Amino acid sequence: MTRKVILAGNWKMYKTVGESVALVARLKETLADVKGREILVCPPFTTLYAVAKALQGSNIQVGGQNLYPAEEGAYTGEVSPKMLLDVGCSCVILGHSERRQYFQESDQFVNQKLKVALEYGLKPILCVGETLEQRGEGRQKTVVSMQVERGLQEIPAEAMKDVAIAYEPIWAIGTGHTATPEQADEMHAVIRNNLSGLYGDQLAQGVCIMYGGSVKPGNVDDLMAQPEVDGALVGGASLDAESFARIVRFQS
Ligand code: PEP
Repeated sequence: MTRKVILAGNWKMYKTVGESVALVARLKETLADVKGREILVCPPFTTLYAVAKALQGSNIQVGGQNLYPAEEGAYTGEVSPKMLLDVGCSCVILGHSERRQYFQESDQFVNQKLKVALEYGLKPILCVGETLEQRGEGRQKTVVSMQVERGLQEIPAEAMKDVAIAYEPIWAIGTGHTATPEQADEMHAVIRNNLSGLYGDQLAQGVCIMYGGSVKPGNVDDLMAQPEVDGALVGGASLDAESFARIVRFQS
């Protein structure tokens, strides 16, 4: 079964409108010939509209970095799925470790967000990953399996074609310490095994499992060469057009 290959940039809290538009203008031009790979940029909320407008008619999709699981309401400071769709998003990152760590997002809350995203037709990327301490204690497989199972609770099999999982070991995010290709592959196999238990082997084989954590032009080829690694979620290296373009053009 062929899996989607997704190369996504998580811009976090970087870039003004002018900087964002300049970055995507360059990406649009340099990546116009890329086929068979899904390219996604996830800018901050404030620049989504301008970015989506600049990317109209291109092969680059736009996603949110988060959402609040309600259509509208008295939730000061939050952004709804309807608003993300309105500004041109097709995808959304959910359960990023920075959200879990700094904003106390639980697996249950992430699961609620996932359900609402799917309800509104936004394709979610569910992020999971262990801390350095958990890995040190040898608990990485248990921790990640639990995040996958709780995050996907009550998500029906038919919705899974729109869900991607990103394995992002917390110790590798923004630290320059990438997981080795073998470590990434091993954990992706664990996740695929979880999916197999939840939905059966055939469906599990079709889910895109991305790796995230200090992906750079210099390590992307080795990571993407692993049989279980189907894509990359890129933070720092997605803020520069040349470096993200090289990542999108990985060779394996
Ligand atoms: C991320 O933000 O999801 C990420 C993986 O960041 P970085 O590539 O900078 O480690």
